[in-house]
Amino acid sequence: MAYSGLSLLSHALTGNKRWPAILSTPDMRSSYDIVIIGAGGHGLATAHYLAANHGITNIAVIESGWIGGGNTARNTTIVRSDYLLNSSFGLKNFALKLWSDLTQDLNFNLMYEPRGYVDLAHSDGELEHFTLRANAMRLRGGDADILTGQALQERVPELDFSGDKRFEISGALVQESGGVVRHDAVAWGFARKASTAGVHIFQNCPATGFETEGGKITAVQTPQGRIACKQAFISVAGASSAVAGMAGINLPLNSINVQAFVTEPVKPALDAVVNYNAGLSYISQTDKGEFVLGGATDGYSSFARRGSFERIEDVLARAVQMFPFLTRLRLMRHWSGTADIPMDGNAIVGRTPIEGLMINAGWGYAGFKATPAVGWCMAELLATGKTPDLIAPFALERFETGAEQDDGGIGPYPWLH
Ligand SMILES: Cc1cc2nc3c(=O)[nH]c(=O)nc-3n(C[C@H](O)[C@H](O)[C@H](O)COP(=O)(O)OP(=O)(O)OC[C@H]3O[C@@H](n4cnc5c(N)ncnc54)[C@H](O)[C@@H]3O)c2cc1C
Repeated sequence: MAYSGLSLLSHALTGNKRWPAILSTPDMRSSYDIVIIGAGGHGLATAHYLAANHGITNIAVIESGWIGGGNTARNTTIVRSDYLLNSSFGLKNFALKLWSDLTQDLNFNLMYEPRGYVDLAHSDGELEHFTLRANAMRLRGGDADILTGQALQERVPELDFSGDKRFEISGALVQESGGVVRHDAVAWGFARKASTAGVHIFQNCPATGFETEGGKITAVQTPQGRIACKQAFISVAGASSAVAGMAGINLPLNSINVQAFVTEPVKPALDAVVNYNAGLSYISQTDKGEFVLGGATDGYSSFARRGSFERIEDVLARAVQMFPFLTRLRLMRHWSGTADIPMDGNAIVGRTPIEGLMINAGWGYAGFKATPAVGWCMAELLATGKTPDLIAPFALERFETGAEQDDGGIGPYPWLH
């Protein structure tokens, strides 16, 4: 059923009784062409594009918890493509293009708002580096502006330039096509469309093991039974090392807690996403009026999805440097997710040493923005066997060949992103 103003009106007039369920509830088959492990945005986008772009629907998506219960609905909803490397920029800029039409394509309101991403520089040297990045983005067809002084103040009038700041604001790289997307809607939008196309989605159904024969994947094990398959695709974010480990694959990544917070709601006061780079503190305001804030990882490996006052203090100390009015607000909620971060800070997307077993991991706390692009490219790889150029640089084998994708350019630190 198509969602529209007319369908809303007709359902309102008939007492809102006949909205169909978003997902079908199929019986599990004993075999599928493809089993996708993880019903986050990436796994579900892959299922959708397999159906929409390649006509493949004999697919099971299995999810240990509930749809969007992983990092997809835990993130701070920021989308942008302001990256220096060709590989990082290319994939994320393709995603930005997809985001702009996705609400119509999925017939599901994803609330994509290109309200602008403002990345603050705190020294002349940093601003020079930002200028290099902005020029590289423009040369590749992206939008990027360097704003300083009055121009930046006019772009973000609430930003505090006054007083004797520990870290002055030297300027900013602004990407106007960056912004926010309603994160849980992304998971449900892809799930609904894929389910309608005939994809089977099973919640509360974890992958517990893999079967292989002659180096080739043959089945995925679950508590609900064995599912034979021609191909399987692991897309489980924070659980990547554990799930890949079941197939005997040791991934070069760390799992680290990342936290986010939200304040009580107030009237609209900030119409951009702003990132403070001396340390890390990023902030945007939701349509409900809450300020959403996030910062760096906890800095040590952990699977515990827990908050800590230390991180709240750290992020808020930076946030009030930008927007002193925040001191007047109360924090309402606080949560976290497990980020899987490889040694060059970039994702692992593509084949594994096991034939027919694909992986998408290592997105850390930066993968939401890439969701539709990863789905598009992984669907192409699974359907055609050919690796699309946009994901080729993110192959697992780069850790053997030394072709690191290190956007910071400062070496192999897992907290890069
Ligand atoms: C606090 C925080 C803030 C972030 N902010 C941003 C941001 O602003 N912008 C941005 O681009 N990115 C951000 N990210 C990163 C982003 O959320 C992730 O990179 C992205 O959502 C990953 O999507 P996914 O579909 O791969 O993973 P997920 O949404 O985590 O989906 C994976 C799914 O796999 C399931 N699973 C796990 N084990 C199994 C199993 N054995 N069998 C079956 N299923 C299993 C999980 O339950 C989960 O639902 C943030 C992350 C966090 C934690």
